[in-house]
Amino acid sequence: MIVETHLDTHLSVDVGGELHVEQVPARELAERFGTPLHVISGSRLRQNYRRIRDAFASRWSAGVNVHFAIKSNPAIAVRRILTQEGAGGDCLGVPELHVSLVAGTPPERLVLNGNNKPDDAIELAVRCGARINVDDLDEVERVAAMARAAERVVTVGIRSKPDRGALEEQSSEMAALSIGAYAELSKWGLEPDDAVAAARAILARPELRLVGLHYHLGRHLSEPELFEDMAPGLAHLSQRLQREAGWAPGSVTLGGGFTQGRDPFFRNSGALAAWPQAADDFVAPIEDFAEAVCSELQRRFSERGLPLPVLGLEPGRYITASAGVTLTRVGTVKQGRARRWVMVDSPGTHLGLSRSPRDAHAIVVADGSAPDHEVVCDVVGPLCVVDVIAQQATLPAVGPGALLCVLDTGAYADGEASNANSIGRPAVILVEAGRADEIRRRETLGDVFGRDRVPPHLYVAGPGSDWHDAPAVP
Ligand SMILES: *Cc1c(COP(=O)(O)O)cnc(C)c1O
Repeated sequence: MIVETHLDTHLSVDVGGELHVEQVPARELAERFGTPLHVISGSRLRQNYRRIRDAFASRWSAGVNVHFAIKSNPAIAVRRILTQEGAGGDCLGVPELHVSLVAGTPPERLVLNGNNKPDDAIELAVRCGARINVDDLDEVERVAAMARAAERVVTVGIRSKPDRGALEEQSSEMAALSIGAYAELSKWGLEPDDAVAAARAILARPELRLVGLHYHLGRHLSEPELFEDMAPGLAHLSQRLQREAGWAPGSVTLGGGFTQGRDPFFRNSGALAAWPQAADDFVAPIEDFAEAVCSELQRRFSERGLPLPVLGLEPGRYITASAGVTLTRVGTVKQGRARRWVMVDSPGTHLGLSRSPRDAHAIVVADGSAPDHEVVCDVVGPLCVVDVIAQQATLPAVGPGALLCVLDTGAYADGEASNANSIGRPAVILVEAGRADEIRRRETLGDVFGRDRVPPHLYVAGPGSDWHDAPAVP
């Protein structure tokens, strides 16, 4: 194979215009497994994990823990790859703890986060030995009671809201608010005063071992400033905890929200042109984030005479987004007076667009069928809601049957997809080392309707039909 263009480390287009994921032609994957189809590159997952770990570990002398946020891509095989690489995990509830354990992640590298944690999640975390980040004062006693019942000492952290400080100045890309105001309005984390009270309450209970402070503000900016601006507040709160509760955090977690490459999140401003070729220069490289965070944190902790804590990171989208693509086939191409619609078989809801219609992904033609001339079109799914996958995108003028590839769908696509119009979710394929394996099968009618039951009184024949006329659900 003569490779003509490298779109990215794991994506290339050969001289015939065919897209390859690692060494495997996208056309072959579509023929073998059908479309729409999610494809994950295993080597890109590993690279992403290693790159973010090394970016921080090489700049932070006190040690770095990376907890993969499994909600960004909950496939067990994805978790397995990251477990092989040594990543810990950020989990919410029993299902995410369960899957992380099934994939072999050592429980002491798992963290249970979340507001309003159910008893069964706390119990599982306590019994398996995961860390629990308390998100409310009441939770301290709930965790302690479970620890006593299980006769275990439980590792806990405190999830805090940030000091508004410098975050007051930064406005979020997610909302018309400053990041400080956003954090105050959001349900997560303890106010700084309550964080101090929680520390005292935890330290008074021998069945709890307090190890760290936890922040997660989310993805607000694709520039490093957000993380840099967390530093003064973290150092200030750490000092308060030391003075008022007699405890300095041994670890400080910055949460997730790190971005990279073509970052599709909150990018839908209509300006889609020229995206596909932009590789890793679209947002600041992770090393810039690491440099900004580590130097600022080090300075702030040193000037207050605080011991340097272990640094915790919880990347989700940074690890998974760029590792995934979605193959989707063009059906109807309709030319209207106001628009040209390229209609594909993937519902927008299967690309995570149910989460934020403001996300915008780059799209490339995957099967070498791209004509030379380009047109402006809307790429839309088949649903009876407005599922626009790309709005006013400049793409080669493809016709029915063409295979398109939507880039950067590895995060929050399958994990947050819905069954709108009762359409089953696509299969997920893992490509690595020249192999292609199905790691999630396509949903069948039985999967989609498997929860349905018909109550007895509806079996009785009505004027419209005998029940016997109705086909059985497969
Ligand atoms: C969602 C989440 C993350 C991951 O966020 P990304 O933006 O995908 O990096 C990390 N930590 C917590 C607590 C989360 O809820």
